[in-house]
Amino acid sequence: MSSSTPTAVHCEKCERELMASSYELPSKRGRLPHCLMCAVRFPSLLRKSLVICLLVGTVLTAINQGNFILAGEFQWAMAWKIPLTYAVPFIVATTGGLLNARAAIRTDA
Ligand SMILES: [Zn+2]
Repeated sequence: MSSSTPTAVHCEKCERELMASSYELPSKRGRLPHCLMCAVRFPSLLRKSLVICLLVGTVLTAINQGNFILAGEFQWAMAWKIPLTYAVPFIVATTGGLLNARAAIRTDA
């Protein structure tokens, strides 16, 4: 016996029942609801976040470390900053995409 209600909304990919909100992501059949875990791994979202990460991360690295790199004075002790410089725009772009796709579940249908 299933615990879901007749009007329950389920994730398009993993079939998990969605409670208060979902992430409506594009497909061939229109924008379909997904759970957070499936939305985070959505290929189109990851691809766009990766492009933004590479563009913005490169610009920020050039701004922050470019003068040291070009002068040949880059200190490897500060190399940990570069992956973080790329990670921030990736996280921001992914979070923005998820918030943009978020939708309330309507059970009054
Ligand atoms: Zn799912």
